[in-house]
Amino acid sequence: MACEKAERVARALEARRSGSGWMARCPAHEDREPSLAIRETDGKVLVHCHAGCDQRAVVDALRRKGLWPEVWRTPEQRRDHARRRRRDEADMQPARSFGDVAAIFAEECLETLDVADPQRRSLSRLLAVLRTESGVLAEYRQWRVMYPKLTRALVSAGRHHRERISGLVLAGIEGGFCGTGSG
Ligand SMILES: [Zn+2]
Repeated sequence: MACEKAERVARALEARRSGSGWMARCPAHEDREPSLAIRETDGKVLVHCHAGCDQRAVVDALRRKGLWPEVWRTPEQRRDHARRRRRDEADMQPARSFGDVAAIFAEECLETLDVADPQRRSLSRLLAVLRTESGVLAEYRQWRVMYPKLTRALVSAGRHHRERISGLVLAGIEGGFCGTGSG
């Protein structure tokens, strides 16, 4: 069932179906008309009180009733989640520099390889992975473990490459190469 968490909340509040979600009487204020919208997206329950209750007040009220699924997570799990997010943020910048160079490298290799070369497949896969932020991050972390020196070199090359490009762009703007639509 796609919305079982939301449905659990909705049932407990005797909500009625409304579109893809439910409408219930809001537990955070004296609610005569159902004004609380409940739905589920990507496994997360979303609530919104149309009478204007603060989101936090609604969640607190649901929590007191034992109806807030995110607290089905333990405090340790929540700490873990926060830690993972911080780690992702810290790694994102070197990962981007790495991804820039790795993508150029893969493209160059692809151009030099014979059409029948079996390596083409893994290079194409690498390029596809490097197209998303999560892919760049995951690839960077793998490389960092497998080839630490090479990865450091790629990160630093990526950073310089970026600085050089932005330097060139700045020089271009100053030199009047990037017209501002006067023509
Ligand atoms: Zn409300």
